[in-house]
Amino acid sequence: MRHEEGERARVRLCAESMQAALELGWLDIEHKFTTTHDPEKTCCTSYPEWKYRQGSMVWNLTVTVTLTDDELEAITIHELAHFLTDCLWGSIPEGPKKEALVNLNELATENVARAIMAAMR
Ligand SMILES: [Zn+2]
Repeated sequence: MRHEEGERARVRLCAESMQAALELGWLDIEHKFTTTHDPEKTCCTSYPEWKYRQGSMVWNLTVTVTLTDDELEAITIHELAHFLTDCLWGSIPEGPKKEALVNLNELATENVARAIMAAMR
């Protein structure tokens, strides 16, 4: 991918800036990057470990490169919201019951993210 290093730096700067702006420095988040083609165009997948206030975000640079800075910022806040709510989601045992709640978890996460974005305006 062309300009991969530049895109990696843009994503890292955005994520670290948003984390600082929300005063979430107490979360230890490792940023990882992939350039795998994803037909579903998933921009970022987060792996919070809520018990330790840490985890990772895996950014797909083939998708992030198509986003404006504002879009990337909104996705970053959504992913940070996953870290904030994962103590609930992460407590549900894996299995069909959890699978049935995936969309509900996404909606709740996005609601939190939108409230944060509104408060930042
Ligand atoms: Zn999500």
